[in-house]
Amino acid sequence: MKPDSTTCTLDKALLPKTWYEIRADLPSPPPALLHPGTLQPLDEDALSQVFAPSLAKQELATQRDVEIPQPVRNLYAMWRPSPLVRARRLEALLDTPARIYFKAESASPTGSHKTNSGLAQAFFAKQDGISRITTETGGGQWGASLAYGGAQFGVEVDIFMVRVSYQQKPYRRGQMEVYGARCVPSPSPTTQAGKAILAQNPHHPGSLGVAVSEALELAMHSDNTRYCLGSVLNHVILHQTIIGQEALVQMELMDDYPDMVIGCAGGGSNFSGLAFPFLGKALREKKSTRFIAVEPLACPSLTRGTYGYDFGDVAGMTPLLKMHTLGATFTPPSFHAGGLRYHGMAPMTSHVYALGLIEATAVTQMASLEAGVQFARAEGIVPAPESCHAIRTAIDEALVCKREGKAKTILFNLSGHGHFDMQVYMDYLGGKLVDEPLDEAHLKEALGRLPGVGV
Ligand SMILES: *Cc1c(COP(=O)(O)O)cnc(C)c1O
Repeated sequence: MKPDSTTCTLDKALLPKTWYEIRADLPSPPPALLHPGTLQPLDEDALSQVFAPSLAKQELATQRDVEIPQPVRNLYAMWRPSPLVRARRLEALLDTPARIYFKAESASPTGSHKTNSGLAQAFFAKQDGISRITTETGGGQWGASLAYGGAQFGVEVDIFMVRVSYQQKPYRRGQMEVYGARCVPSPSPTTQAGKAILAQNPHHPGSLGVAVSEALELAMHSDNTRYCLGSVLNHVILHQTIIGQEALVQMELMDDYPDMVIGCAGGGSNFSGLAFPFLGKALREKKSTRFIAVEPLACPSLTRGTYGYDFGDVAGMTPLLKMHTLGATFTPPSFHAGGLRYHGMAPMTSHVYALGLIEATAVTQMASLEAGVQFARAEGIVPAPESCHAIRTAIDEALVCKREGKAKTILFNLSGHGHFDMQVYMDYLGGKLVDEPLDEAHLKEALGRLPGVGV
């Protein structure tokens, strides 16, 4: 069946059967995760103490094609293949010769790409006989996705939600509870890590770093419980490659191929999930495709961070990861894209950046929201504030095409919708938002505190 010229959804029968592991096509492997005490590479057994064993195995595996379990495929089929949309109205508005396409991960039941991994992680935990999983969430998209997975596969889910977000985004908490998960504001009195912080400051606003420490502690001290993470790790990126696997087929059905692949980057999973299948093809077939990760200027790990070993949390409980980092103690100035507030970038995304295989750029909150509003008025979908960063760069590249009179093909990831983020848009439209500059002294101090391992 030939798709119409605007939207390409795929026959369910064409839903990809495999996720794609980029290590199979890279010229060199990424640096190993290290044990924080011994500084030795972590093996599968050690990782299985923290993560469900199947996920620990995926974290280290290098086989190119990884079969998607049928129960996960069946759930994916509810909304996947997600639409690949030619943004013709946006093209007309910009008066650009460029062809702009976006992959609508906003179509998932929880509203973002995170569902792709939330379902997979809950499935593997259940298969491994794990009865309870813990995690942290900032804006709530990841917590909601894992809660949905837990409901599908019958695994208990405990979520530590950054306290400010818990207060600012009560509907996300409500969504997690509808799925049957427990959600507590972090720091909480339920863990030693939380108690210690509350003792110092009973009104602590929380941070992702603190919430990670709490979720890890609960997992380590409970029977048959494991910890889950919504981005950054290799197995999470693996699950997200379903996005790029579909897009490869859809672009072919549209009789087109991207010159540029763009995604916003917080921990790196939605960008890499779309980009890696195209990057693998570029490496195998010597294609020259540009891959652009877009981060906020207020939390710019790829463009301003140091490439070195660092912790994933403030308390230093996680393995050491080699990544582009602003320092585990870095706290970004307040901006609304909660999913982009992480201090580090995925080791795999950092590795391909260090190899020169991808580019990175940083944009301001105001510029990204301006692009998001323009996109919503043209294409109808109100994007998540995180996704607005990708849209900004896609629009900027389309305007370069206009200046140069070149009809290039641009593909970007619409990582989620912004239906829980209306306050951000109301504040933006009401003229209440300003760009807070990065605190250079704070960044310098946080970078000065890196553990200094193997750099
Ligand atoms: C979490 C999130 C992000 C950022 O995380 P990545 O791992 O970099 O993808 C981006 N967009 C949305 C909608 C999110 O929920």
